[in-house]
Amino acid sequence: MFDPLQFKSNFPLFFQQENKALIYLDNAATTQKPQCVIDAIVDFYISKNGNANRASHRLARSATSILEDVRQKSANFLGASHKDEIIFTSGATEGLNLLAKGLSRQLDKDDEILLSVAEHHANLVPWQAVAKKTGAKLVFINNNLEDIDSKLTHKTKIVSCSAVSNVFGQFNGVDRFKRIKKKYPDIFLIIDASQMVGKTPVNVNDNFCDFLVCSPHKFYGPTGVGLLYGRRDRLRCLNVSKFGGEMIESVDLFESSYAEPPYCFEAGTSSLAAIAGLGACIGFIESQFEKGMLAYEKKLIGYLHERLSVFINDFPEISLQTKVKDNIGIAAISSNRYSMADLGFWLDEHDIAVRVGDHCAQPLLKSLGLTSVLRVSVAPYNTFEDVDALIQCLYDFFKKNNENLCTTAPFFLTGDESASDYKDELSAINYHDFLTTKSWANKYTKILSLGKLVAKKPFLHKDRYLVSGCEASLWIHVIEERSQKETAFNFVVDSDSIIVKGLAALLLCRVNGKSAEHIKGIDFDAYFSDLGLEKYLSESRFSGMQSLLKYIWLAIDK
Ligand code: PMP
Repeated sequence: MFDPLQFKSNFPLFFQQENKALIYLDNAATTQKPQCVIDAIVDFYISKNGNANRASHRLARSATSILEDVRQKSANFLGASHKDEIIFTSGATEGLNLLAKGLSRQLDKDDEILLSVAEHHANLVPWQAVAKKTGAKLVFINNNLEDIDSKLTHKTKIVSCSAVSNVFGQFNGVDRFKRIKKKYPDIFLIIDASQMVGKTPVNVNDNFCDFLVCSPHKFYGPTGVGLLYGRRDRLRCLNVSKFGGEMIESVDLFESSYAEPPYCFEAGTSSLAAIAGLGACIGFIESQFEKGMLAYEKKLIGYLHERLSVFINDFPEISLQTKVKDNIGIAAISSNRYSMADLGFWLDEHDIAVRVGDHCAQPLLKSLGLTSVLRVSVAPYNTFEDVDALIQCLYDFFKKNNENLCTTAPFFLTGDESASDYKDELSAINYHDFLTTKSWANKYTKILSLGKLVAKKPFLHKDRYLVSGCEASLWIHVIEERSQKETAFNFVVDSDSIIVKGLAALLLCRVNGKSAEHIKGIDFDAYFSDLGLEKYLSESRFSGMQSLLKYIWLAIDK
């Protein structure tokens, strides 16, 4: 019988003083690491560190044997027939880039590359670059792959799909891919298994793909190492795209010949300590499979959905975007009315880690008319009590903050209004009030009330006004008022997050109506530090403020 608490006891992070209350529900981004993985990494550096494949001394031999031993373990774990079908990469992203570049020589102008609209950017952007270079066409299937058969033609050269969506956790199963493989044996079929490995046993020998990529850091392994499986005969069709030491057979000044796969794809020194950690991780996960880890995870995701379904009955403006069936551990909610960024902030305040945003799947969200999704992703160290605590915190947010967080200042849409109608919107703010506010609870309330002063401005919600680098959406527009003496700048903003609006208001009330010279004289570092916000704000939220500042500099420098 699988015991989640016993499982959790393997993960030292949860037992550090600062993490004792942490409820970690961002496992689709990365999982925590068990002691055995940490030990293997430390042990490598303490007693085994040498460079693999390069020298014959004892430490080099030991590093080489770890590398090859973990290659074999990885092959067994994924069901590959030979260890030389396993290439070590730095992660799924590098694996997909190697495939896109490596297969580009197989493509002609009239060929088609089939992807789904649900792909992670890592399985989309490299193909866009290849399509541009080769003239091949990108063809898209829908997010649950239902129309894949109708999109396959004699022009299809490559199919590259994720087995599990990183936003909705839907496992598409491998039968569909097996059928394609059987019917179109020449197509290069690539599976992005980043969210699949560790959540269900994988057997590439089952003939459902030619290539498969994954990132062990998503299944208790270290960051810095990834796996690319390629069927032996198919690896021979893959061009080498990374060059350097150890991937060669011989080198002359003008020509080189390359080593056999997989070595020709592993230029430079691999992340040896991470690979040692991966070896420990595979042993760990296989033993947990045997203990019933997957069945427990299934129950947990069922419970999470059960509780969320009841919750959204009470708050119908929230939508549950995920289903329990074939779900590998993700629940996602969205809302047109409430800010998911603010909700994520609230949960973080209560030490519950989730992820909010577009999850590197912008086309998927756009196709569903969504801008931001709050994703809860579980692992077997999560308990039913963790789910209860999350749900309670959601209720608290909506009950206690309903007033504050869900309404914005009244807006008077006339249909032809412009940013200049709002140029004085922040003029009444006195930031000195904020400087004298001591406790975080009071600061938080003040940020919310400042946020409410910023009216909703749908006319600003355009890509050209969007500030990049901010967790929530933040739009800004500058209005210049020229007089004989000088030019005064007024910045007008909007955001889907009240907190971000409040923070932006705190920044803009210092600069609005001022000249470039005046703005240049403000010491913003000192101002931020006087406001006392850095220690409360996440890196990404704070960097959103920095991006806003950058925008201001650019506007006044023009
Ligand atoms: N594909 C999917 C489906 C993913 O979820 C991720 C990570 N979120 C990636 C690719 C990229 O993985 P990595 O950042 O580890 O390279």
